[in-house]
Amino acid sequence: HTKIKRGTESPYSVRPPRKKSYSRKHNNGLAFQPGMPVFIRDEKEVWIEGVVAVVTSKCLNIRLSSGKVRMCAVSDVLIRPQVDFTQVNNLTHLSPINAATVLTCLHKRYEQDILYTTAGTTVVAINPFKEVPPLYSRQTVYAYHDKLKTDPHIFVIAEEAHTRLVRQLGKVNQSIIVSGESGAGKTVSAKHLVRYMTIVSNPEFIHTQTDLNQSLTATTIESRILDSNPILEAFGNAATHRNSNSSRFGKYIHLQFERTGELQGASIRTYLLEKTRVVHQCDGESNFHIFYQMCNLTGQSTIQSGLQTLFGRIEDVDFKIVPAGQDVEENRDLQHTLEAMADIGLSSSKQRDVFQILIAILYLGNVEFSVVQEDISCAISDDVVSPEGLLETSNLLGVMPKHLEEAILHRKIEPGRANSRRTIFVKPVTAIEARSRKDCLAMLLYSRLFHWLVDFINIQIQADHFDNTIGLLDIYGFELFEDNSLEQLCINYANEKLQQHYVKHFLKDLQKEYEDEHISWVNIRFTDNEPCLAMLEGTGSVFGLLNEEVYLNRKCSNHILGERLVELSKKCKTHLKRPKIFASQPSFIVVHYAGDVCYSVNRLVTKNRDNVPVELLGLLQSSTNPFIVELFSDYQTEDAPGRKKKTVLSKFKGSLDCLMSCLNASDSHYIRCIKPNSSSEIGLFDRQYTMQQLQACGIIESVEICKRGYAARMPYDEFLHRYGILMNDSERMKEFPIVEEEVDSGMDEEEPLETICRLKMQEVVKNISTPKKKLRRRT
Ligand code: ATP
Ligand code: MG
Repeated sequence: HTKIKRGTESPYSVRPPRKKSYSRKHNNGLAFQPGMPVFIRDEKEVWIEGVVAVVTSKCLNIRLSSGKVRMCAVSDVLIRPQVDFTQVNNLTHLSPINAATVLTCLHKRYEQDILYTTAGTTVVAINPFKEVPPLYSRQTVYAYHDKLKTDPHIFVIAEEAHTRLVRQLGKVNQSIIVSGESGAGKTVSAKHLVRYMTIVSNPEFIHTQTDLNQSLTATTIESRILDSNPILEAFGNAATHRNSNSSRFGKYIHLQFERTGELQGASIRTYLLEKTRVVHQCDGESNFHIFYQMCNLTGQSTIQSGLQTLFGRIEDVDFKIVPAGQDVEENRDLQHTLEAMADIGLSSSKQRDVFQILIAILYLGNVEFSVVQEDISCAISDDVVSPEGLLETSNLLGVMPKHLEEAILHRKIEPGRANSRRTIFVKPVTAIEARSRKDCLAMLLYSRLFHWLVDFINIQIQADHFDNTIGLLDIYGFELFEDNSLEQLCINYANEKLQQHYVKHFLKDLQKEYEDEHISWVNIRFTDNEPCLAMLEGTGSVFGLLNEEVYLNRKCSNHILGERLVELSKKCKTHLKRPKIFASQPSFIVVHYAGDVCYSVNRLVTKNRDNVPVELLGLLQSSTNPFIVELFSDYQTEDAPGRKKKTVLSKFKGSLDCLMSCLNASDSHYIRCIKPNSSSEIGLFDRQYTMQQLQACGIIESVEICKRGYAARMPYDEFLHRYGILMNDSERMKEFPIVEEEVDSGMDEEEPLETICRLKMQEVVKNISTPKKKLRRRT
């Protein structure tokens, strides 16, 4: 067992674990001998291969493959098993299991384009950054479905989930959690999984003997589910430093099935769209794809005329929120998005409505302000880039230009009611405030539009009736930037939650089960992130402080919050720290399971409050554009008067709690996506970078637990359901007095005992109410 040690150099750096338990002479029970193949600890490559040359009383001399000899302490050497690592399909087959063998195994397989390896019950998927045919072909789908192929693949997981659903095993509802850092391949994997499900659950495939070479007719529902991808990617993905098609929202898709395994529909839940990207992108990063698709329209003549006219309004205009010179990959063109929109049932006029809002956002981004009175008031400046910004925006939003100007430049203050008369003061805002109000309007429009699209897609793909579901979770990976704010806090919190789910199900519960069943077991230590989660979300936690500051609504909240966090860090020293280096802005460090992240306190409270100025909301609700009115008609109900306004953190926590309940109510399957290098290069396996990801997610510990435990585990009722029929009569009577009783009391005596038992046993299994403990002991 290796306990993860956190590095001190950078939050991401995780040093190779040092093994305290090795005695000088011993390594897994074997004494080192000259000629023995070993791994030695290496700063750059983590572990490298070598052969023992000389054994002295104090150290070992190891000959490396380069011919060089390196002197090593015994604690820095591990025995290297003589196996063909490329043939090790399941990491539990490694002996010994440690960081060196696991890493080398994945590396060697990756060099042979073997991307998938099983790790106990999880599949580790390494991103090839290139096509590896025929990895996802239809023939491959059939081969995995028919169990002709069983080597590690994400399709094994998909097939397992589908089979359990069809056979009504376990909790019946299934979930597949695809995790990994940005660019690791979560979205690509999730798309292949959905495609797999649509193929194997196609009624033609299920009910007829189709020629495997013949293509299946996709049902409307299948194509609509698949069509939701390009739409959501266009509106929710963007190019970042780490991934040119990075999902800037979390997605949980529920595939809805009939009892027979036929796909009936789906529903999509999204989490925390990164709406700030609409108005601000880090250097070298981009806005959402859809804006580039619209602004790179050259040569797309097939676009319907209504839209052509609309797009004519943005021709030859430079937009500040879509910086020029960004590459747009050809497969992300507007044509593709429009086709998907049409296929999913979005009418031409609704498409125009959608694009009209997007164009309004583009023009709004060009509105600038000039100071009229320092720190007091400002005015809309005659912007050199696009002087028509305000006019175009108001026109497209269906509001009067002077009303838009008024709503951005003035704040209404209602000090109270005197003599039952409402007194409202109007106060001008500074240029800084005006800019933030303008940005708020753009973000509000974009996020409402995005959620409207998700709702629309859901209406189109949701089944009227279904029996069970397979959920597929593709949620943003752990994030660590130079400047980390509320967005990163939410994303990393979501990852902590998922890691906790993994730790609970694959590390904690598994070991507890062995203990409960009195199976001799030596506990394997693992990093439990529960204390970190408690510090973030529990009572007297970071979230508690942040929410309180929103409700108290005091001035200088940044400063006060900084001080309160310092106080909190004294209580939770291990998971909350003050930065050692003096920072100009107050900040705090959270020791996450995947590394330490320093969050800046600046604007945390403002972002958490996420206040929409009432003037802007009122303006949109008074629009002459019916689509805008539709978008904002129910907005007020969210924060109804008298109810405490929900903060971003409390809403996000609520949606994650809901997600967790969903996952807990289903059988979970994990796919751990690994990014083999930080620069998305083909063929490059950065061992240190990969190791950090393996250690952070606890893969090595879970492999060890799987290896030490039993290879197959089945709940008693499921076992009974499957194999009970093999028992002979006397055994059955001994084991199931309950069956006997019921047979005596209710069944036709003429019926052969065999049949009665079979029927009754199925019934018993279904409604099993016998105390689980008693049954379990007989597993
Ligand atoms: P993010 O968290 O930023 O959304 P992600 O984990 O969803 O990242 P993807 O967008 O799925 O990452 O993958 C990043 C890129 O890696 C893809 O655009 C694609 O080029 C490549 N890629 C991922 N998986 C595969 C695969 N199985 N085969 C070939 N290329 C892949
Ligand atoms: Mg993604």
